[in-house]
Amino acid sequence: MDWIKRSSKMLLLRELISGMALTLKYMFKPKVTINYPFEKGRLSPRFRGEHALRRYPNGEERCIACKLCEAICPAQAITIEAEPREDGSRRTTRYDIDMTKCIYCGYCEEACPVDAIVEGPNFEFATETREELLYNKEKLLANGERWETELAARLNDDAPYR
Ligand code: SF4
Ligand code: SF4
Repeated sequence: MDWIKRSSKMLLLRELISGMALTLKYMFKPKVTINYPFEKGRLSPRFRGEHALRRYPNGEERCIACKLCEAICPAQAITIEAEPREDGSRRTTRYDIDMTKCIYCGYCEEACPVDAIVEGPNFEFATETREELLYNKEKLLANGERWETELAARLNDDAPYR
């Protein structure tokens, strides 16, 4: 009896028809895909993307050169040099992150007592050369200025859970 069933399936093109019916059904359902890069999906406030160094609203750097982020980084991707300013405050003279070493664990952000180093929502920072992924202080501060609105909103959203 099996050969009759198999033959009738083949002759009546049942598998082809059921496949076409399934395609037709999904043609009228809402799409589950998005048209990236023109459309982007929602990101969690805890998304760990490209790093940024933040400033206070008066323009002063947040970072106090405590080096906790450098000490905790498991990939040893952060290099900091610091010296006191004339007013006695301590600030970095060098803040580098080797993004080729970074594993995006977020420990640097967690360790920072003043929310200076953060991982922002930007995930579109692919480069053509390795050198472009060696970030210095200027690059990180520029990222902070570019993304400050999103970074502040993200930290605010996550604040009740920290
Ligand atoms: S995210 Fe992790 S690996 Fe990357 S710089 Fe921060 S502490 Fe280091
Ligand atoms: S970024 Fe934060 S943890 Fe790292 S040196 Fe500056 S203040 Fe300290």
